[in-house]
Amino acid sequence: MSFSTFGLSDEIIRAVTERGYTVPTPIQTQAIPAVLAGGDLLAGAQTGTGKTAGFTLPILHRLSDKSVKGPSSGRPPIRALILVPTRELAAQVEESVRDYGKYLKLSSMIMIGGVNINPQITRLKSRVDILVATPGRLLDHVQQKTLSLAHIEILVLDEADRMLDMGFIRDIKKILALLPKQRQNLLFSATFSDEIQALADNLLNKPVMIEVARRNATADKVTHVVHPVDRERKKELLAHLIKQHRWSQVLVFTRTKHGANKLAEFLLANSIPALAIHGNKSQSARTQALAKFKAGDLQVLVATDIAARGIDISELPHVVNFELPNVAEDYVHRIGRTGRAGSEGDAVSLVCVDENKLLTAIEKLIKREIPSQVIAGFEPDPRIKAEPIKNGRGGEPRGATHSRNPPKNQTNNKKPATKKPAGAGFARPATHHFAEPRRAGGRGR
Ligand code: AMP
Repeated sequence: MSFSTFGLSDEIIRAVTERGYTVPTPIQTQAIPAVLAGGDLLAGAQTGTGKTAGFTLPILHRLSDKSVKGPSSGRPPIRALILVPTRELAAQVEESVRDYGKYLKLSSMIMIGGVNINPQITRLKSRVDILVATPGRLLDHVQQKTLSLAHIEILVLDEADRMLDMGFIRDIKKILALLPKQRQNLLFSATFSDEIQALADNLLNKPVMIEVARRNATADKVTHVVHPVDRERKKELLAHLIKQHRWSQVLVFTRTKHGANKLAEFLLANSIPALAIHGNKSQSARTQALAKFKAGDLQVLVATDIAARGIDISELPHVVNFELPNVAEDYVHRIGRTGRAGSEGDAVSLVCVDENKLLTAIEKLIKREIPSQVIAGFEPDPRIKAEPIKNGRGGEPRGATHSRNPPKNQTNNKKPATKKPAGAGFARPATHHFAEPRRAGGRGR
């Protein structure tokens, strides 16, 4: 199987080849023909599977293939809208759109909050074919009448589950109401809760449902390990592991923003270059830290779950859970950063006595026991008793990046973020790479 079998244009094939892709990933093999055929699509796919190219390549082909619709004179209208939950993911997706479309005459734009709206207003005055946006800022533009969605032909809801988790359902509904009735809809989601199902039932018309195979190519190449350690010695153990294994590019997850800052400071004090990214950092600080990390100029990036969403670093070798996530699903999202698209990686979790319940919930979700290995010199003290997990003032509930300190001009009408307890959602576990494939969605289910 190669990309040329899909009938994509030569310009697209050239860009893909230059990017170094030779074989389409399973999601691409199924999604590309489905999107090219023009119908709706419901795909169960997570970041790391190659889903972005799975929808971007056929969208580029369709938009460049057809003559431009809409007003016959003046600036052509925006024809494709890709809605994503976070700014980081928006940047990632828009970069892919530009890269895969670099030999085409199509033009794309990113529209996110946390940055000045005026350059976006200016940009909208020139041609935009494909818009990649987060919902809040998009609605700001609608309110200011600087954006028309009246000619959208293709809508993508990327990481729809995460958008709902972040409380964007009302915004999504408002946006859907602004789109023309006749259009192609593509919904990508890693999990299929009842809420996602309801959204899919409402949005999609006889969708092709992609049965995503387990993500063998990537997930099975990820080595999972738990290092039991005392709560107060985690920092020390992390520095030890980084130094001992000479890890050069490590993404570390903490539960809170405050914890992320403290850890980055500790690592720096121990001569390990580290920066923290989270919702309280400005967008430019986040972008800069990420760029340095991606370029290999920063050894450790410490991140909270929300801030790390959408981070795509190819072949990221090490992901460390400095603290286990409160929501078991986030473990899967976190380790989705490593072993991407066929490369190998490891996911290391530093687990103290307080976190045993969280670990059990994760193992139940991923349907496997994670091997445990005590590091010599860091043996847990059996006298230490479990304490309730503090999420601290720096805790970052879902949606915090958008709702806590909403930037000016950003609508703040999300419903309060709902936080599921760890283990919630196990009733429908077959939504992860590790689980048996389930028919992605399905009406009336
Ligand atoms: P995504 O799931 O879209 O975030 O993509 C995950 C990673 O896989 C990105 O770094 C892509 O550049 C990479 N990728 C996507 N498609 C392919 C492919 N066919 N071959 C190799 N790498 C790919």
